[in-house]
Amino acid sequence: MANLLDGKAIAKVLKEEIKDEVLKWKSKGVQPKLAVILVGEDPASVVYARSKQKVSENLGISFELHTLPSDIAEGELISLIELLNNNEQIHGIMIELPLPKHISKESVMSAVRPDKDVDGVHPINRGFIMSGEEGLFPATPQSCVEILLRSGVEIAGKHVVIVGRGETVGKPLVFLILKHNATVTICHSKTPDLGSFTRQADIVVAAVGKANLIKEDMVKPGVIVVDAGINETPDGICGDVDFEAVKEKASLISPVPGGVGSLTTALIMKNVLKGLDLQRRNV
Ligand code: NAP
Repeated sequence: MANLLDGKAIAKVLKEEIKDEVLKWKSKGVQPKLAVILVGEDPASVVYARSKQKVSENLGISFELHTLPSDIAEGELISLIELLNNNEQIHGIMIELPLPKHISKESVMSAVRPDKDVDGVHPINRGFIMSGEEGLFPATPQSCVEILLRSGVEIAGKHVVIVGRGETVGKPLVFLILKHNATVTICHSKTPDLGSFTRQADIVVAAVGKANLIKEDMVKPGVIVVDAGINETPDGICGDVDFEAVKEKASLISPVPGGVGSLTTALIMKNVLKGLDLQRRNV
C-alpha cells in the first residue's frame, strides 16, 4: 500500500520558510505586499480572495483587496493594474478569475508587470518557463514538483506521464518537469488508449478535472501518483485518480484534499517574495 505525498505537512514547512524570508525582508526595511483584484461577486472567487488574505497575513505579508463592480470597463481595470504596477509598496498582483465576459482575460493578464505576476500567466513568464529561465510560474504545477521533491522523490531519469494539457496545470508542468531531467509524455482528451501510456509511467500526474479517471489497471505496481484534479461530487471533493484502488498498487500517492492543493496558496506567497527579489534586481 502506498505512502502519502502529504501536502498538508509540506505546506507547514513551506510556510515556516516563507515566514523566515519575510522577516529577512522586514529587517531590510521592506514590507512584502500582495494586491488582489476581484471583479464582481463570484462566490468562489470571494472565498479564494479571503483565503489568500488570511494566509498572507499569517505569513507576515501585507494584503490589499480591490473589489470592482462586474460592469467595470476593461480600460478602468487595466488602469488600476498600471497603478499597482508602478506602486513600489506592492510586490505581487493577482486577478481572481473568472472575469466578466466583456473583459479580455488575455489583455488583463498581459497588463500585469511580469515581475509582479504571482499567478505566472504573463506571456513573458510563459516564455521563461519554456526556456528554463528565472521567472514567476503558476502555483499548481510548482506544487506538483514541490510535493515530489520534498517527499524525497528523484525526478531525474524518470518517465513522467502528465494527463491533461490545460494552460493552468498540465502544459506549464511539462517544462518544470523537463527542467528536472525527466522524460515527459503528455496525454489529453484525444489520446487513444490512455492506459497504454500511464502504465509506462514511473510518475503519473493527473490534471484533468474528471473524478476517478485514473483507475488501478492504468498504472504499474510501485508507481508514484500526483493528483492535481479537483472535482466536486455528491460525496465531497475528490481528485482525478481512483484513490482507494490505486493506493493499493502505488508506492506514493497524493490525496485530494490534502495533497497538491494544500501547497498552492503558500506557493503564491512564495511567488510574492520571488517577485520582490526580481524587482530589486531589476532596479
Ligand atoms: P483544463 O484547462 O480544463 O484542462 C483539462 C485537460 O484535461 C485538457 O487538456 C483535456 O484535454 C484533458 N482531458 C479531458 N478529458 C480527458 C480524458 N478523458 N482523458 C485525458 N485527458 C482529458 O483544466 P486545468 O485548469 O488544467 O485543471 C486541471 C485540473 O486541475 C482540474 O481538476 C482543476 O480543478 C485542477 N486544478 C487544481 C488546482 C489545485 O490547486 N490543486 C489548481 C488549478 C486547477 P484537451 O486539451 O484535449 O481538451
